[in-house]
Amino acid sequence: MLDKTQVERLEAEAVNSAKIRQPLYAARKKIFPKRASGNFRRFKWLVMAITLGIYYLTPWLRWDRGPFAPDQAVLLDVANRRFYFFFIEIWPQEFFYVAGLLVMAGVGLFLITSTVGRAWCGYACPQTVWVDLFLVVERAIEGDRNARMKLDAGPWTARKLMLRVSKHTIWLVIGAATGGAWIFYFADAPTLLGELFTGTAAAVAYITVAVLTATTYTFGGLMREQVCTYMCPWPRIQAAMLDESSLTVTYNDWRGEPRSRHAKKVQAAGQSVGDCVDCNACVAVCPMGIDIRDGQQLECITCALCIDACDGVMDKLGKERGLISYATLSDYNTNMMLATAGGSNSVNPPLVRTADGLFSDKLAHFHLRKIFRPRTYVYMGIWSLIGLGLLYSLLTRDRLELNVLHDRNPQFVTLSDGSIRNGYTVKLLNMIPEPRTLVVTMQGLEGAEMVVVGDDIPAGRSFAIPVEPDRLKMLKVFVRQPADQIRAPAQTFKFRVEDRASFESNEYTATFNAPEAPR
Ligand code: SF4
Ligand code: SF4
Repeated sequence: MLDKTQVERLEAEAVNSAKIRQPLYAARKKIFPKRASGNFRRFKWLVMAITLGIYYLTPWLRWDRGPFAPDQAVLLDVANRRFYFFFIEIWPQEFFYVAGLLVMAGVGLFLITSTVGRAWCGYACPQTVWVDLFLVVERAIEGDRNARMKLDAGPWTARKLMLRVSKHTIWLVIGAATGGAWIFYFADAPTLLGELFTGTAAAVAYITVAVLTATTYTFGGLMREQVCTYMCPWPRIQAAMLDESSLTVTYNDWRGEPRSRHAKKVQAAGQSVGDCVDCNACVAVCPMGIDIRDGQQLECITCALCIDACDGVMDKLGKERGLISYATLSDYNTNMMLATAGGSNSVNPPLVRTADGLFSDKLAHFHLRKIFRPRTYVYMGIWSLIGLGLLYSLLTRDRLELNVLHDRNPQFVTLSDGSIRNGYTVKLLNMIPEPRTLVVTMQGLEGAEMVVVGDDIPAGRSFAIPVEPDRLKMLKVFVRQPADQIRAPAQTFKFRVEDRASFESNEYTATFNAPEAPR
């Protein structure tokens, strides 16, 4: 029977501990993570609720863009080649905004990793979030760690069959909901939902849902930590991102070692003992099945659940929290030097404490200012510059574009009255979801007039033309100049397009070609 200052030892062994390193492609050992509770677990619940909420609910948000554009707040309209994001509408030629955002996301990931290690992996990566969600279902149906281990090891009974069928059915439903939510980003969500259930949606919608259901179920339910360990490149890349000032989840062996299950006996024998009571609580909660006491490992996603578990143990023992904590390598090294008398001994816990048993003032502690160092300033600078550049470009971008192509063959035609005619393809791009009447004018090219082919607009130097919302209008325009007005074989002039209601305008400088010596 344990007294209240004793901690039960859990039968938990790391799947890939320092003592028994398994080969890279060993058969999977099942992991049954115990439910953790504490500040980091609560924070993870919050992040999970926010990220899943954003993913599942965003396609259902509406945004009024008037009668000529879809009212879905976030929509990738592949058919019409548009991306809508609330009040922003991105055309294909503006895809650099998306590229810019991806670059910002990449630099942001560098910034986060160099400051707080693999926080992305531990809290916000879809794999982590969905595995957490699948584990919630598993625990609700099969119970916590011990119950699940017992069930797994036990024979197949009607109860086991029922529990397993229920679990896998709910996992599949989550997978289908995940795939379903994804396709809603590509079409009007309420309409597509109706079509899905009435069997009238496009085949590609059903195929996408099926593929994403299978991948979510397999990655989140069956493969779990295997995806992070074997499939994801990020653990390999992150090593280059970290430095001695990056925060990582660390077992502070300068206060934990020598670990012992029998601290009182060891102390009575005159030997020093660390704070770790070797209870394995940190191993039992680890979703990756590792033992953080073995040091930094590729498998560790820094989810910090071992911190919660160990803090609970320290609370129970009446010791300071933080035996496992977020720490920087430089702080850890400083404290290790203190605990080992400059590296000359093995860890001797009394060296980090005062005679009263309190921690020594010489111990290094993390301070926020350590986050702000040249490297992080550089990342923040790059990130902000790209963001400001994109914002400026977005706020000042044209919503009315004009493009002109001169006919290549023939370059000009000499008409029966001796005047010269050039042909142009004029492209008017109305990039707002409202119809507009645009006025096209010629500037320069004395005496010249233009006619729009196939339209009954009278010849002149200006004409007005309606353009549909969010559309490109292409016009074939002939420009004719009398022979006696021609000044050179190649004269430049301007096409100008104007929306007189909004005062937006755009210009294009074109060339008018004529023979060397017009007749
Ligand atoms: S060792 Fe700790 S931080 Fe790392 S994955 Fe396991 S529980 Fe999470
Ligand atoms: S580090 Fe903490 S949780 Fe892990 S075995 Fe030691 S005392 Fe237990």
